[in-house]
Amino acid sequence: MRALTVAPGTANSARVDDVPEPPLSDGPVLVRTLALGVCGTDREIVFGHYGWAPHGAPRLVIGHESLGRVKEAPAGCGVEAGDLVVGIVRRPDPVPCPACAVGEWDMCRNGRYTERGIKERNGFGSDYFRIEPEFLVKVDPALGGAAVLLEPTSIVAKAWDHTERIGQRARSWQPRTLLVTGAGPVGLLAALMGCQRGLEVHVLDHGENLLKRRLLDSLGAIYHAESLREMNGFKPDILMECSGAPSVVRDVLGRTAAGGIVCLVGVTAPGHDFDIDIGWLNRNMVLENETVFGTVNANRAHYKMAGEALARADKSWLERLITRREPVEQWTNSLQRQQDDIKVVIDFS
Ligand code: BGC
Repeated sequence: MRALTVAPGTANSARVDDVPEPPLSDGPVLVRTLALGVCGTDREIVFGHYGWAPHGAPRLVIGHESLGRVKEAPAGCGVEAGDLVVGIVRRPDPVPCPACAVGEWDMCRNGRYTERGIKERNGFGSDYFRIEPEFLVKVDPALGGAAVLLEPTSIVAKAWDHTERIGQRARSWQPRTLLVTGAGPVGLLAALMGCQRGLEVHVLDHGENLLKRRLLDSLGAIYHAESLREMNGFKPDILMECSGAPSVVRDVLGRTAAGGIVCLVGVTAPGHDFDIDIGWLNRNMVLENETVFGTVNANRAHYKMAGEALARADKSWLERLITRREPVEQWTNSLQRQQDDIKVVIDFS
């Protein structure tokens, strides 16, 4: 079968390989891959900056945003042949740490977790993959191809889950406004979930993009293409940083209303020094009870929340997020950013 592989740590080693059928050791459920979403993490892996092959293997099968159809499954395991499914990315560490021991692998304490298509486990980027039923999520067939958005939505669902838990440290917490920085797929999905919560949602993009403006208009959210500093001192109750741009991260710190929460979702590369007035930041954060926190990955509960959010969304809106499909043989084209890209998908069907 065909598999999309890379040699982690080596730039531009991506290719299509002919590999044996997936090993039974990956799990008893056999899934036919339909589509694979591409994100910034995949680009980092292909450029040689991130990613780890399985122990003893020179190459990694990439792909963590999956969508497939069950081909074979043991009776009574929770899924059956024909079901539309998405694979969970992370596996708990083997110790396990206190978080992994209770199924909160997204909060792993010792860093020994593994991730399909990213860290020490082959991913979902092959014609077929095998998986354990407990790491498989059944999706509503009504979502169709838009269900490939489930994994990125699970990341956003965790961000919302933790933001709301932090907010509830004050019994009076009633957020009204949300600012999302970054209008990529994660930023747009964060805005969707903010609108579903009845918030006044603002999204800050790095440059004018008509498609994104229209997508946000149809959600009832407000699109901004200026800089945060030009937003006339707007101070949201919740700020979700989804751009991963170092200068934006600097600008969001200390920019919320009193009691505000800054949730950092975007990942940055090290090596960006900025001058920050720590005295100002600390005074603001202390005197106004502000929080800044980071969040990564998602556990099973977040995939469930994500499925519910996608089910409530307008399906045609979700479909408009998928702006380009590349065939498997040309999958490396999906890594080159194009002007109007939002979510690019590799088509295995
Ligand atoms: C994935 C997460 C993963 C993270 C860090 C993200 O792109 O969506 O599942 O935990 O990268 O490897």
